Amino acid sequence: MDTGKTVEAFKALQKKLKNYNYAMGVISVDGDTAAPSGSYAERGEVLGMLTEAYLGIYLSEDTERLLESLEEIKDELDSVTRKEYEHFSKLFYKEKKIPVEEQVAFSTLVNEAGAIWHQAKEENNFELFRPYLEKLVENQRRFAGYYASDKAPYDVWLDEFEPGMNMEKTDAFFDAIKEPLISLVKKISESRVKIDASFLHQNYPKAEQAKWSEYLMEVLQMDKRYSSLGETEHPFTAGFSKHDVRITTHYYEDDVASSMFSVLHEGGHGIYELGIGDDIKDGCLSGGTSSAVHESQSRFFENYIGRSREFIYAVYPKMQEIFSEQLKNVTAEQMYLAVNEAKPSLIRTEADELTYAIHILIRYEIEKKLLAGETEVKDLPALWNRMYKEYLGVDVPDDRQGVLQDSHWSGGMFGYFPTYAIGSAYGAQLLAKMKETVDVEACVSKADLGPIKEWLGARIHEKGWMLDPGDVIKACTGQEFNPQYFIDYLTRKYSEIYQLEK
Ligand code: ZN
Repeated sequence: MDTGKTVEAFKALQKKLKNYNYAMGVISVDGDTAAPSGSYAERGEVLGMLTEAYLGIYLSEDTERLLESLEEIKDELDSVTRKEYEHFSKLFYKEKKIPVEEQVAFSTLVNEAGAIWHQAKEENNFELFRPYLEKLVENQRRFAGYYASDKAPYDVWLDEFEPGMNMEKTDAFFDAIKEPLISLVKKISESRVKIDASFLHQNYPKAEQAKWSEYLMEVLQMDKRYSSLGETEHPFTAGFSKHDVRITTHYYEDDVASSMFSVLHEGGHGIYELGIGDDIKDGCLSGGTSSAVHESQSRFFENYIGRSREFIYAVYPKMQEIFSEQLKNVTAEQMYLAVNEAKPSLIRTEADELTYAIHILIRYEIEKKLLAGETEVKDLPALWNRMYKEYLGVDVPDDRQGVLQDSHWSGGMFGYFPTYAIGSAYGAQLLAKMKETVDVEACVSKADLGPIKEWLGARIHEKGWMLDPGDVIKACTGQEFNPQYFIDYLTRKYSEIYQLEK
């Protein structure tokens, strides 16, 4: 094959695989949103068939031969195709390392473990979930060995979700933020300032909240031709292509902030997906870099923008108009304070901006021990409860609100949690750099997010996976990743809100 034909075949293969993913994604999202519950089994069959067809193409000998041809001509490739080749072949050869029958057994295990986890959480019964979690830990230690037998299993999994990460770097990150954050939380608990957030928990009818969400989508300048907002139990973003991005939220009638910040968070993920460059949209570099970089974008719009005083003041008139009864005696300043109340709590997904990272730190320390074989699954509930008491000062009343609260481990996802906190910290560094050239406060005060989106778009969104995650922050800010920006941001913000002594 000549160079042109080889490249053409490679582009066609990527597009085909992307189309399969599109089809499978739409079916899955439909299952979570519109499909009747009784369709579960047959839909599973359809997805199984598509997965088989997808893997049949992806892991075929034809694909391997194509990659061998590309290897020979890699120096002649343009920069996008070259990066596509490197990225694709890295994933391909890694996937090949795990025997097919073990992949199948793992997906069965995950399927079962997911269902059992749901039941165990509902019944507050850790013992029910324990044997599955033991198998999952054992499995992921073994898979890590297939990927890189010379590395510690947890290093392999950290690198899986955030390429370039390992325990040494993640330790350094958490070591840097641990003391400052815990001490801030302690000072806040002793502060004279008490925030009243009770008005957030009046009755906020779903229809009005939906109207409010639509308004927020407009403020985010989400292009309606290519994005939509749906409703699910757990909010998520599914980007099938830059022309089809679905975000979802969940409306709690007794909590107006929950959906508001879900829309802003998922909206941030959506903006990333919608902003992918046309030159990479059909290939394996589309869809955004690692989970931490993705989180840096969602949390940017949720927290750095959405929980800023400027933003709340800018959107509050509209909020008050929609919820005229509930908010008639509430000022914008009261709203700003209420959505920024920092209070140690039990549930990660409901945590505020400050204590959130501590929830992640606890999971990180537990995962590290678990994957190193230094702690046993049966001891997790006690370990969990002890750490929540030590770091956040809260008593965990039961495993439902403790060790069973998150779904990640039931999917064998060890090493994913740290990306949430690292992503938040990336965001602070990006904001500091952005402020050198963009008047962020002035833009947000006018609810004009255009210049902010442009800044992120040109440096991050358009590029997709052209840059490796570790290089994104360096390329955007001219510096290595530095968690000090995150600490400074939180210290400044919360010292002002809670009037803490310097
Ligand atoms: Zn997210």
